[in-house]
Amino acid sequence: MSGVPVEESLDYRRLLDAAAAAARATTGQGRVADYIPALAAADPEAFGMAVATVDGELYGVGDWERPFSIQSVSKLFSLALALAHGGDGVWGGVGREPSGNPFNSLVQLETEHGIPRNPFINAGALVVTDRLQSLTGDAAGAVREFLRRESGNPLLDTDPAVAASEAEHGHRNAALAHFIASHGNLQNPVETVLDHYYAHCAIAASCRDLVLAGSFLARYGVRADGTRLMTRSEAKRVNAVLLTCGTYDAAGEFAFRVGLPGKSGVGGGILAILPGRAAVCAWGPRLDQAGNSVAAVAALDALTTLSGCSIF
Ligand code: GLN
Repeated sequence: MSGVPVEESLDYRRLLDAAAAAARATTGQGRVADYIPALAAADPEAFGMAVATVDGELYGVGDWERPFSIQSVSKLFSLALALAHGGDGVWGGVGREPSGNPFNSLVQLETEHGIPRNPFINAGALVVTDRLQSLTGDAAGAVREFLRRESGNPLLDTDPAVAASEAEHGHRNAALAHFIASHGNLQNPVETVLDHYYAHCAIAASCRDLVLAGSFLARYGVRADGTRLMTRSEAKRVNAVLLTCGTYDAAGEFAFRVGLPGKSGVGGGILAILPGRAAVCAWGPRLDQAGNSVAAVAALDALTTLSGCSIF
């Protein structure tokens, strides 16, 4: 044993097969989200996983080309685009500390004067959506267009039934938005912010689409066409916040098991970044208590454990 377990180049096909086997071993664990009724229709046994390397190779296993509701995975893109358009100003209205509370919690907002802890809990994502709306005039459209361009999938779109279902059952998000507005931390009307937030959360995309769209973070801010979306320093910062806050109050456990920056969503997707190497996305609709996919965490855990390749 050399004591240096990291291989120079990874055999992604073999790793994906092993990761899929680890995901299959979780069959039956966790529950499909149903607080947004349209999400309850997801196939609980579906599983897919994809890898896009920084040199343009693409690998997939299982249902990797099947679209699902990306939900909070969209928050990675809304933050990246807000930073790309507006620079550091975004950080004036949202923090960068783990919340230690559920993703839809209201409690900290009261004591912390309407400044959400981080951009990946719902409160923080509402502020980011608001800033992206001010910067672009169409926050959801900006996220959708970016995903379409990077994935090369012109059919990628918001699922209007999911967006409507979110809006109909969105009392908690509406409460968060009104509370933030009462502290003067929204620039646009609450209704506008909520509409755009629901519309980007309700985008349907596959693991394939998401790894292609997320690979700019593996390239330290550079898109597939070679242009720069953000500075290397900003990409480092987004990855840092993904690591510490991207999987809500399970971010510590996710770092412990997977060791990568990652963003989860209640549709069951998790997009993770191997900086300098690849973007990886796993999807399975059954969620644990924190709202993270049981199968996707198991698959990503297997991938980094077997390859010895994480950020640590
Ligand atoms: N749109 C969802 C919500 O607002 C996103 C939550 C999530 O994926 N964690 O509740």
